[in-house]
Amino acid sequence: MIVRAIVTDAPRGGVKLDSMDMDFHDFPVVLKPVLTGICGTDRGIVNGSLPFAYNPHGENRLILGHESLSVVVSAEPNSYNIKAGDMVVPMVRRPGKCLNCLVGRSDNCSDGQKHEAGVTGLHGFMRDRFGDFPEYLIKVPGNRKDDMAVLTEPVKNVEKVFEVLDIISRRSIFTDSAGAYHGKRAVIIGTGSEAFLFALKSMDWGFSTGITNRHPLDEIKGKLAEDTGMDFYDYSHAGIRENNGIDLLIDTSGDPGTVLRFIGRMNNNGIVVLFGTNGKAQPAPVDGDLLGSIVEKNLSIIGSVDGARIHYERAIQDIYKWKAQFGKTIEMIITGRVGPEDTGIFLKKPADEIKTVISWGE
Ligand SMILES: [Zn+2]
Repeated sequence: MIVRAIVTDAPRGGVKLDSMDMDFHDFPVVLKPVLTGICGTDRGIVNGSLPFAYNPHGENRLILGHESLSVVVSAEPNSYNIKAGDMVVPMVRRPGKCLNCLVGRSDNCSDGQKHEAGVTGLHGFMRDRFGDFPEYLIKVPGNRKDDMAVLTEPVKNVEKVFEVLDIISRRSIFTDSAGAYHGKRAVIIGTGSEAFLFALKSMDWGFSTGITNRHPLDEIKGKLAEDTGMDFYDYSHAGIRENNGIDLLIDTSGDPGTVLRFIGRMNNNGIVVLFGTNGKAQPAPVDGDLLGSIVEKNLSIIGSVDGARIHYERAIQDIYKWKAQFGKTIEMIITGRVGPEDTGIFLKKPADEIKTVISWGE
């Protein structure tokens, strides 16, 4: 069938809504996107700044889109209980042949041979129809029809980070005497969608949680932070809470200077999680005193990417827990809704954007 698809030519970039003739006979499940989310990775591919992105083998274009909430059009019997009409979230990474990939942990791929839909060598979900295999589809509990599950893909990154945090934190006592994280302080660098999602999970754990950036929050972000109980501070104004140490630092900016500035303020046994990436960020010098303090303070610094099936499942549960907890406030994360023809959204980020989604219609 002829489908509309939002395509680029990776890693060179560009974006257009194209028509393609595709057949889905090789796939047990055929799906139609309801919503697809746009993130920094999509914009990075479109503006040609992500050298690791590439087209599927032998093709001269890549269909974008790795964040999707989709409805099942048809499914063969015995497809993990998936049937027509089910709301599902497709996983992004598809396994290569390394041991981690073979046990369902392509998020920990050890040789880089995995693929990522809409990013590395595999067509993404920004098209009228796609085919897939049931083991990569996560059912939305209760088959809910609202929009929130489109956040599952970004939230699964958060779930993996907190799993890694749990493992790393066992090397010393990281809790208070009651086994809780109350009184511990988490700082999330950045005020984009991923930063807000990290902060929500951090508050669930009981951390006193703040998000930070070098400019004030706009009205929507300010209200979201206030109504969910997270702190915000503008770190361009030195002196604000600079004396409070940090126990958990999560970076979503990928900016070395900012990360180093905050690493200098970690408490003993603190954990630093690097999640954001920015290949165009300015370099920042590291001196011996900073390296020495990382040693003396017994810090852990870890990088974390992607997540496994279990993290998608936990993500959907947390999203609906947050919805029950915060009601309409949590829906404020989705700040914009455009059609597939509005490809300008990839070239210019709206000023007040937290998460923009593409609606694929009925
Ligand atoms: Zn692998």
